[in-house]
Amino acid sequence: ESLVRPGADDLERAAEAALRPRRLGEFVGQRVVREQLSVVLQAARMRGRAPDHVLLSGPPGLGKTTLAMIIAAELGASLRVTSGPAIQHAGDLAAVLSSLEEGEVLFLDEIHRIARPAEELLYVAMEDFRVDVMVGKGAGASAIPLALPPFTVVGATTRAGLLPAPLRDRFGFTGHLDFYSSDELEQVLLRSAGLLDVQLAGAAASEIAGRSRGTPRIANRLLRRVRDWAQVRGDGRLTLAAARAALEVYEVDERGLDRLDRGVLAALCTRFGGGPVGLTTLAVAVGEEPETVETVAEPFLVREGLIGRTPRGRVALPAAWSHLGLTPPHDPGT
Ligand code: ATP
Repeated sequence: ESLVRPGADDLERAAEAALRPRRLGEFVGQRVVREQLSVVLQAARMRGRAPDHVLLSGPPGLGKTTLAMIIAAELGASLRVTSGPAIQHAGDLAAVLSSLEEGEVLFLDEIHRIARPAEELLYVAMEDFRVDVMVGKGAGASAIPLALPPFTVVGATTRAGLLPAPLRDRFGFTGHLDFYSSDELEQVLLRSAGLLDVQLAGAAASEIAGRSRGTPRIANRLLRRVRDWAQVRGDGRLTLAAARAALEVYEVDERGLDRLDRGVLAALCTRFGGGPVGLTTLAVAVGEEPETVETVAEPFLVREGLIGRTPRGRVALPAAWSHLGLTPPHDPGT
């Protein structure tokens, strides 16, 4: 598994738990969302009521789960966690909802993946704080309304546009998380180094930040790998030289590209003269499935302006050639 993919498995999440900011004031970056949330939460506290439901959207690893935990902490409420994929039937959701206590925060990760029959139930619960429990089957079935105490849903989704409009409308507030700047990632890294009790030189923080693809999860992961290297191969100090040496071992380059990313660029530039070339052909050239190239490598390469997608296929942009230290064969863009 590559170090620079934004997702996380259970092991990673365990390692992350120690590095999560607990309060809004410790949360780095996302100035707009932070300010908006701070107002929503303070108003709710002043009124002594559960705040409106909050939707958080943005790519993986930018802090949606962290913010959900912070919201609960700032409200002094407990947090219940579930996710869209875990809710396959309306009954799964009814069980969670009917066990909520007053003021609790319910975190629904990947809310766009919630099963259709459960959606309807969620609308009613969010709007009227009620869940209709179905009793019996077939013609004799009836719905018994069960009143729920006020609670707050915090939904997370990678794309708010994927949510059906009626669900989106039930959130009083939507916060969009954006990729972090290098400065912000440096702050994340310095804070994490403090928590891990390691000395991180400023130049090393800046080096790691530049390779972290705008994503705190990746920054923290690279930090842990650099720490390993410094302990095992170095003298324990996280210097610029240690960061560079470690990230070379892990094949994460100055711009945060890994071996697959560079393989795609190299194939595009050297085998296909910069394209355009079809996805399948390109995938064969790097020995990967087209889907892997399209979903794993391409999004970041496109975001970075290294490759472009055209109706005739993928093309290398000028930045791709210069990143590989190559000269384009023809005037780029013609
Ligand atoms: P996913 O959708 O994949 O679950 P996510 O958006 O929920 O991702 P989190 O799990 O909240 O991401 O964050 C990943 C890691 O990055 C956490 O360990 C957290 O400590 C760190 N992190 C995220 N945002 C910040 C931030 N603003 N300041 C400091 N650390 C952060």
